Amino acid sequence: MGRDVKLYCHWTGGHHNQLFSDYHISITGDGRVYVSTDDLSDVKNATYRRNTGSVAITLCCAYDAIGPDDLGPEPPTEIQLNALAQVICVLADALDLTIDLNRVMTHAEAADNLDGLYAHEDYGPDSTCERWDLWVLREGDRPGTGGDQLRGNANWYRAYGNLQNI
Ligand SMILES: [Zn+2]
Repeated sequence: MGRDVKLYCHWTGGHHNQLFSDYHISITGDGRVYVSTDDLSDVKNATYRRNTGSVAITLCCAYDAIGPDDLGPEPPTEIQLNALAQVICVLADALDLTIDLNRVMTHAEAADNLDGLYAHEDYGPDSTCERWDLWVLREGDRPGTGGDQLRGNANWYRAYGNLQNI
């Protein structure tokens, strides 16, 4: 692809304990990490027209989520969000990636092509809102802050993780 691997962060829109094989890595509501393949270069069907050269990580959550102020009865859990930051850090270390918008994106950001890679028509929160995974991490957060929070947390683990004995 002539570019770094991209890590895309999703939610499933399903239940906290419901796994789908459309993602390489799934994190259940209790923070457990499941890997659906032994080859992260497998092309999954997770991020429309962006699957080649990417790894899809998902949080099992957001069943019946309505919008940024109502993430439904099964919103992302704190332990799940924390695990996601750790998974991003581990993958970014393994793939030698800078943890920034160009390499680590929420599906909400990817759907609106916020990395400037015009892979498809916009279909995220800035346009049709067809997909808005992790646009916010918690109900009532300022819309659009999910990706920055995840990248910030993952960069924290990258900088300080081994000092904290995780
Ligand atoms: Zn998604």
